Amino acid sequence: MLRCDPARPSRGVNNGSVPAGTRDISIAVDRLRGGGLVAFPTETVYGLGADALNESAVRRVFELKGRPANNPLIVHVADAAAAREVVAYWPREAQRLAEAFWPGPLSIVLPKAPHVSGAVTGDGPTVAVRCPDHPLTLALLRAFDGPLVGPSANLSGRISPTSASHVRESFGADDVFVLDGGECRVGIESTVVSLADDEARILRPGVIGPEQIARIIGRGVAYDEAPPAEGPLSSPGLLASHYAPAARAMLVDSEALSRLWREADGQVVALAISPIVAPPPHRVIPMPETPEDYARVMYTALRMADRPRTAVIAVETPPADGTDEDRAIWRAVLDRLTRATATRS
Ligand code: AMP
Ligand code: MG
Repeated sequence: MLRCDPARPSRGVNNGSVPAGTRDISIAVDRLRGGGLVAFPTETVYGLGADALNESAVRRVFELKGRPANNPLIVHVADAAAAREVVAYWPREAQRLAEAFWPGPLSIVLPKAPHVSGAVTGDGPTVAVRCPDHPLTLALLRAFDGPLVGPSANLSGRISPTSASHVRESFGADDVFVLDGGECRVGIESTVVSLADDEARILRPGVIGPEQIARIIGRGVAYDEAPPAEGPLSSPGLLASHYAPAARAMLVDSEALSRLWREADGQVVALAISPIVAPPPHRVIPMPETPEDYARVMYTALRMADRPRTAVIAVETPPADGTDEDRAIWRAVLDRLTRATATRS
């Protein structure tokens, strides 16, 4: 089973002899003040950070990631007081959610303050804001003393990074300074909840589920099932293919898997919770049984599976059962896996 140690800084792709990044916040702050980009660790995934109030730095993030301009960025802040600076108003419900879950994996969408550029929000009227739970990045946000955009630090549409060396696989040192905070504890992106309309809605599932949010704000929260087809994206849910490996990937049950072993043209790498054994040349990456552990290692497992000689990555469909908390995480996991295995146009 995959093990991740958040306390240990991750190593680069160069045999572990040179670190993929450093822990030097002062260099990072200088880079950001000069309009440069800094990848930072969070509890969810690594973010590609830039000064949220510097429009050309924000545009550089889109350019470097190859991200569609209508896919809005989440603004990262040190605390609720800093969040209030980037929104048009800060309702009691937002304050309660911040007190309950921040720092943590919950992004809150509200109407944006006028000085927040449309470059950040996909030209939309709202902004997503969150306070990430990682000591190095909280220290960075305090030292920088301003909001940072932070989409996942990967090329648009590809697998999100959960270690500094993952970031290094996508971006060179000339473009991105990497703060190395070890491996990400949660492993998948934040829950995005919108308080911008009459109904509270979850735009992107994450490890914090609707029941937990509803308990704090005292009213129901629904998953957003039908995002609008045009204009600013209200959720990455609009991007059918996302979080995708280079190799072909599919969600399968165990029966389909045994068929694949026999019929696939090349090596199949399976990500499976069931204790199955692969006939050579195929391979199994054993996945954890609990939703928290599965989410934590999911992107690393997809990266391990995504090798040049892999013909097919077959992901055994995870369960969807358990407590409310378990089901929320499984739903978020399945959301990512569905997109990772979606047909690309
Ligand atoms: P990523 O940066 O890869 O974590 O993706 C950020 C995601 O946050 C976007 O794809 C949106 O789903 C969501 N998001 C960010 N800003 C907004 C916003 N203003 N309104 C709705 N969703 C947002
Ligand atoms: Mg992303």
